[in-house]
Amino acid sequence: MTVAEKYEGVINYFKINVPIAETELQYSNPFELLVAVILSAQCTDKRINQVTPKLFKDFPTAEVMAASNSDTIFSYIRSVSYPNNKAKHLVNMANMLMSDFNGIIPSEINELVKLPGVGRKTANVVASVIYNKPAMAVDTHVFRVSNRLGLTKAKTALASEMQLIKHIPKENIATAHHWLILHGRYTCLARSPKCDACQLTEWCTFFKTKKINKNFPHSLSHKTKVMPVKKTIKPTEQKKETEKATVKSKAKEETKLKFIAHTTSLKVGDKAPEFKEKNQEGKLISLADYKGKNVILYFYPKDSTPGCTMEACSLRDDYSALTKKNFITLGVSADDEKSHLKFATKHELPFSLLADTDMKIIKAYDVWGTKQFMGKIYDGIIRTTFVINDKGIIKHIITDVKTKEHANQILALS
Ligand code: SF4
Repeated sequence: MTVAEKYEGVINYFKINVPIAETELQYSNPFELLVAVILSAQCTDKRINQVTPKLFKDFPTAEVMAASNSDTIFSYIRSVSYPNNKAKHLVNMANMLMSDFNGIIPSEINELVKLPGVGRKTANVVASVIYNKPAMAVDTHVFRVSNRLGLTKAKTALASEMQLIKHIPKENIATAHHWLILHGRYTCLARSPKCDACQLTEWCTFFKTKKINKNFPHSLSHKTKVMPVKKTIKPTEQKKETEKATVKSKAKEETKLKFIAHTTSLKVGDKAPEFKEKNQEGKLISLADYKGKNVILYFYPKDSTPGCTMEACSLRDDYSALTKKNFITLGVSADDEKSHLKFATKHELPFSLLADTDMKIIKAYDVWGTKQFMGKIYDGIIRTTFVINDKGIIKHIITDVKTKEHANQILALS
């Protein structure tokens, strides 16, 4: 198998099976993402998502954070790893953003890395997630999975990054970063990869050879492993431990069973909330503009991701059939105008995409909430479509969106 065939196989697998892949860090604007990514170094996203809501509430902008001090910030982030250093970095970063960048997060890697606390990995995450750039952030999961699959033969994160961006098509690089992270987090685990459950075996060098290539490490941490000292447990202690473990696993199971994805609280028959927002061309669009028309208001997680592209293309391909039925189509996500313009231009979308960066419309339609993806529960935009009639009343709410044939789903209702 050639390297090109291997890349093609792996990318196609992810495109089909993991159409939506995005960061699990919670944020609602570029500044929050930058802060969250700085905090996430050597720490889990879950922990970061626990501390950031209060931090973002009290320090919503670079200006406010710059006016604070590291002791105060420390008190908000004391439970994350390296809180002292990270608190100093955040305050210094906010100060530099204000003094050198007018409070705006730069989009170029070489400028991002000038900010305190921002290394190449963080800069790549920000450039790809916020600015949709073809940047590959290599963390320990990306590094390990790429080496095991044989996509890379790298000893450093930088070498891994260079090899990956050389072979992955530009339009897939940003998403590939998330694909590899999620695969590393949930399937290709560091200590015991779940090869039995993995569907990439066909392309995986590690699976085929069943041995780690010692020349290419499987972890970015090269520290000597310290073997845990075995503790002698008395029978009574052992019983207690077993009981504890049973209670824990039961609780985990119950949480799993109880999980219900968020759905909008709006109901069919409700008056559709009014909105006014800029589209990809900077033109202000409001619901009131379309009195007398039927409006398809569809909320999607992110521009240029596979699922959102399929959905948009379905609405594009049946645009004339929808127009004949007096439908106006409006897409909404939290991406900015620039990202929308790129997405709409590339796929020749004939309708408006609203740049709801401050999530006013998303909140008004109550489509931000908890969802589950690849076994992970996190908050994000819930893919939902509202069909609003010519009097501004919600006629249909579609929550089980079939991205590939979404237009047909809507046409079948009318
Ligand atoms: S087959 Fe095993 S080693 Fe290879 S990617 Fe899958 S889980 Fe990882």
